[in-house]
Formats: sequence, C-alpha cells, structure tokens
Amino acid sequence: MANKTKGQEMLSALSYTKKNVFEEASTEKIKAIYDYSDGYMTFLDDAKTEREATEVAIAMLKKAGYTEYVLGDKISVGDKRYLNQQGKCLIAFRVGTEDIAKEGIRILAAHIDSPRIDLKQIPMYEDSGMGFLKTHYYGGVKKYQWTAIPLALHGVVVKADGEVVKVVIGEDDKDPVFYINDLLPHLGQRQSAEPLGTAIAGEALNILIGGLPYADEEVSEKIKLTALSILNDKYGITEEDFISAELSLVPAFKARDIGFDRALIGAYGHDDRVCSYPAITALIDTENTDKTVMVVLADKEEIGSVGMTGMQSDVLVDVINEISANLGKNSAVVRSKSKCLSADVTAAYDPNFPDVYEKRNSAIISCGTTMSKFTGARGKSSTNDASAEYVGFIRKLFADNGIIWQTAELGKVDAGGGGTVAMYIANHNIETVDLGVPVISMHAPYEVVSKADVYSTYEAFVAFIK
Ligand code: MN
Ligand code: MN
Repeated sequence: MANKTKGQEMLSALSYTKKNVFEEASTEKIKAIYDYSDGYMTFLDDAKTEREATEVAIAMLKKAGYTEYVLGDKISVGDKRYLNQQGKCLIAFRVGTEDIAKEGIRILAAHIDSPRIDLKQIPMYEDSGMGFLKTHYYGGVKKYQWTAIPLALHGVVVKADGEVVKVVIGEDDKDPVFYINDLLPHLGQRQSAEPLGTAIAGEALNILIGGLPYADEEVSEKIKLTALSILNDKYGITEEDFISAELSLVPAFKARDIGFDRALIGAYGHDDRVCSYPAITALIDTENTDKTVMVVLADKEEIGSVGMTGMQSDVLVDVINEISANLGKNSAVVRSKSKCLSADVTAAYDPNFPDVYEKRNSAIISCGTTMSKFTGARGKSSTNDASAEYVGFIRKLFADNGIIWQTAELGKVDAGGGGTVAMYIANHNIETVDLGVPVISMHAPYEVVSKADVYSTYEAFVAFIK
C-alpha cells in the first residue's frame, strides 16, 4: 500500500468517523456475536411481557447463585441478591469489596415492558357471528400495524378466591392465535385516504376470539358462552374474573434471523429487552469483582415510568438506602458517587425515511452500542442531559476496553422525540447517560436490530461494571 500523504495522516489523526463492528471483527469475533444472539433470541421468545421477563431473569440469576432479597434483609459484602418488585420489576445487585462511599454503585437500568394491546376489564362480547374482546393499547403504537397479524394472549387472572392463574395462549405452534380485523382494500377507499394515525380507531382494536355458537337454543349470546365455557374448563375463570386480570395481546411471532447473512434479528419487543438481556448477562458474567453493581429491569417505561414498578418509584432509592445502611455508609454520599447507564434503545437511521433523521448525528446500524447524551423533544425538554465530564468518563472507559460505540440523537430537531428512565435516575443525584441498541421500526409489532450492536452493548456493560 502506498504511503499516506500528509493530508491523509492529518485526516485520520484529527477527524472522527464511525466504525462498523462487523468490519472491525475477526472471524472468531463474528462467531461470538452470532452465538450470543442465539441466547438473546431464546430470551425474547420466553419473556414477552414484564412478568415473564422478571421470571426468566430471576431463573438466570438463581442459576448464578443470586438469592431473593426483601427490604429489611441484612446485606453484607459478597452478597448476590435480587428484589422482585410485584413480579414486574427486578433490582439485582452484587455487593463488592470497594468502599461505596468513595466509588458508589455502578447501575445498569433497562426496562422490560413493551408496547402491546391490553384487555379492558369487561372485555367480552359477540357481534354478527364473531366473539371479541375490547382493548386499550399500552404505550406508543401505530395502531394500523397491529391489525391482521397473529396475536398471543399473555397475563394473569386473579380469581374471586385470590388464586392467581397464569395465561399464555398462542405461543405453542398447536395453540390458536388471536386477531384484530382490518378492512379489505376493496372497501378501504375512504380509509386509505385517512391519516395513518386515525385510519384505525382505538376502539376498533377488538380482538377476534371465536365463532362457534354454544349448542343451546335458549341462550342469546352463544359464541360468548362458548368462549366463557372454554376458559372456565381450562382456567376455572368466569367473566367477572377479567375485572381483576392483567391480560395483554402481543405478536405471536418468534424471534428470527433477518437477511441472507443472518446479521439482523427480527422480534417483538427488542425495546427494551435488547438492553435488558445484555444487562443481566453482563452482571452474571462479571463474577468476583470489587465493585458494587446493580441491574434494574423496570416496568412502565412505555407509559411514563409511573407507579410502584416504574422507575419513578422510590424502590430504587430504598434499596440503595438499605445497602448503604447495612455497610455503614451514608446513602446520599453513595448516590452522589454512583454511576448509571440508562440502558435503552434509540432509533437507527433508516435510509427509507431519511427526512426525519439528521444523518451525522444518527445511530447507524451495526456501528455499535449508542450513547444519547440527551433525549427529549422541542429544545431538549424532558431529558437528562448528561454532563460532558460523565460522557468523557464513559468515552475513556470504552476506549480503554476496545468497545466500538457511537453517539446519536433520536431524529432531527423538532421531528419528534422520546424519553427514557435516565432523567428519573439522575433526579436521585446519580450520574446517568443513555446507552443502548439502535432499532429499526421501533415500537412496531416486529422490530429489527443488528447482532453486532447487541453484542457491542453487552461488551460495553461488562466494561462498565467489571
Ligand atoms: Mn425503551
Ligand atoms: Mn419504547
């Protein structure tokens, strides 16, 4: 190869360009990236809701020697514990030998709820030969995307006597699935002229559940009765039990490789299980460290991080208070020394929709885990804008550990925006910045990520907590 000119040397010394993780990787590294994705795809299929993700993560933690913690338990150095917050949010921690009043706690905070279709409390009815369930969607969905695809029913029903019944229908290949009707194009002339946001009304997201009339002439709602009798046979539930239930419809699709080269993964709910899985595996894979580390898998991010299981809950500070008190440290001091990665996804630049991105400051797929110094909308409203010092700390950490990463803003200025849990954690006086996987078609029933970015995120988390 010819010697570089002075200008070429200057250019590589002074300018910044993103790197493609696959291009930089050896054959062995690419194999490691693909192998890691197999584990992630199994997690995706086993954990489609926050309750299931909590259960699966607890099973992984238990296997790694973690035991359940409840507020008030004694905590000592070397402990590996997890707090199960109402079965929908998880706080796992490992207490290291370092002084947390000097070094703080390293926190990875992801979320395990995803956009979906929830059932109403009195959902069941029949009309014109079909049985239906009424719904209210959860999180930011483009409603038209949820029609005419196979859906699975997940959740719990609390019966009159308090018994909790778990429901999963539509995941086994032999199971039936559910469905939201859409209009045929032949009669969709007016619908096609509607804006996408209003073409399907919220109250039109009714779940098709059956069509077999109950064999009794004296009954008026025969199809509804057939459905109720099947549910009663299988789960022992009645119509009134829906009132104390949390039942959701999620896409029945399994996670699959996308593309001839299998470099990408298609799945429901990458946001934000694509950061949750790397967070949990990074915690499990970094044994015997000095640092005190914590992984939070929160619920309710998609509707504002509210409630007892959302990231605005006091439970995070309660656990930090307890760890601090047990180690004889001041919790306020511990928090002021702690560092957090808000582990959430961002939008990957999509060349099919270039208008909404500013390409220089967008995440490019396969260019590694992506830091967003700030999120929010309209003049950086509603965001944690991380300090240059903290971004500098992370930058050096990743450089020292050979992590390929990138920085991004979610879309063009004033094109829209979004938020994460980062600001709620930063409100507790904890240094926080967003880092996670770029996603194509975020919040669609089937989203796409690059295996390279999933692995890069895992490597970044390991570097942060090891
Ligand atoms: Mn998210
Ligand atoms: Mn989201």
